[in-house]
Amino acid sequence: MSKYEVNEMYDAHAEGELHLPSLLTHLGERSLYDAVSQCSRCGYCETVCPTYMLTGREPISARGRNQLVRMTMEGKARGAASESLDTCLLCGACSEACFAKVPTADIVLEGRRAALGPAPRLIPVLLSRLMLDRPGLFGFLLKLGALARRTGLPRLAGKLGFFRMLGLGPLEKAELEAPSMPLTFLSEKLAADPELSAGTDDEPRAWAYFAPCGPNYLFTGVGEATVALLKRFLGRGVFFHNSCCGLLAYNYGDIRHARDFARRNIEKYEALRERLGGVKIVGDCSSCTAFMKTYEQLFTAEPEWRPRAAAFAAAVRDAIEAIPPSAMTHAPKETLAEAGRITYHDSCRACHGQGIRTEPREALKTLAGKRFTELPESDWCCGGAGAYSFTQPEMSDKILRRKTANIASVRADTVAVGATSCLLQINAGLKRDYPSARAVHYTQLVEKLTRPVAELRAPTAGNAALIRPPAK
Ligand code: SF4
Ligand code: SF4
Repeated sequence: MSKYEVNEMYDAHAEGELHLPSLLTHLGERSLYDAVSQCSRCGYCETVCPTYMLTGREPISARGRNQLVRMTMEGKARGAASESLDTCLLCGACSEACFAKVPTADIVLEGRRAALGPAPRLIPVLLSRLMLDRPGLFGFLLKLGALARRTGLPRLAGKLGFFRMLGLGPLEKAELEAPSMPLTFLSEKLAADPELSAGTDDEPRAWAYFAPCGPNYLFTGVGEATVALLKRFLGRGVFFHNSCCGLLAYNYGDIRHARDFARRNIEKYEALRERLGGVKIVGDCSSCTAFMKTYEQLFTAEPEWRPRAAAFAAAVRDAIEAIPPSAMTHAPKETLAEAGRITYHDSCRACHGQGIRTEPREALKTLAGKRFTELPESDWCCGGAGAYSFTQPEMSDKILRRKTANIASVRADTVAVGATSCLLQINAGLKRDYPSARAVHYTQLVEKLTRPVAELRAPTAGNAALIRPPAK
């Protein structure tokens, strides 16, 4: 316990389930106060914090956010300044630059939870409760929504400003920017693939594909490409039949729901490991894989679950690191011509969250040769950051414009990304600012670039416009 009195706003929940009991920092396990006290206020992180760099405002820098939480805990600031905490992208760039590796994103989230108190935001809480208790109903409602979107009425309502009148501005943005939603989810397609069934033979498998919510409910082609790649390069595997990783609940809703999601996934992993040996859990959204690699932090006060969560976390791999670059060769000229000039955007939770930078670059350089070009400020957040583009649209847009300007500066045609939030955000920006380019998920690009030439030349529907959109 610190020498200071902990502010009652934090104190009320410090013992409760609504917070992280402790943080697993690079310097060891720490209380929130001790973790935030590791910030020496040197300011070394300021130049990598997008919100600070775009505004020059100390309260919305990493150092400012850490000081705010610390002062609130010491009773020197009354009530957390919501702007300071709410505008954080949780990108983790500051922690990577920081000598002490202060976990600012986790500290900010603890500050937000304290500010919200025992009643976290209603919509994320309802969504995660529904996904936990009635996943079938959740899926049914999504499909109803997909059908309703096909009528064009929600888009019309958005254009007429109905969402804003009802105080649901983020829904309007989602309606206008989200791609059309599938009526068959990825999990349904994969469950029907006999090659992905654990079957009854109990033979070891190299991998278990974890379908994050983005690929499962929205970008099903991403998950299909990932599975095709895993089969091609890593041999036999299974579908994990997972629940949501819990990141939505962790970032925006009730942390207890995040723990419930994590427990379900851990139990599934243990059952698979029992039958199939030390299988790796491969997911294709860097935000989700980064979060699953930190599952242990959710259970530091639960001796039974903590080692189980740590074992699960150790088995998680991001798809962008799972496929070995050494397995790549130069891609056929047909697919390279389609892709044009290729660049790579480091999704925050891939580079800052998991330290993955080398593997995707090496793979793309081997595949594309001189057609690969580095993106300036490639590890700057794109402003997508989960739901950030909906909750902080102005700041998100400023950050996005910087990203699209960088893409235009290298005249890229194809931007490979590792997270579905980046896919949505960068494509929305490119459509407006630089429409000749397009963002694609890394696994979709690599799947196409590594497809056998004979298959590429076959006139199948699957070969059409995987990488480039059809000419308008
Ligand atoms: S978070 Fe780290 S780099 Fe930033 S001011 Fe604190 S100690 Fe310095
Ligand atoms: S997580 Fe990102 S936005 Fe938040 S303080 Fe750190 S660098 Fe800035």
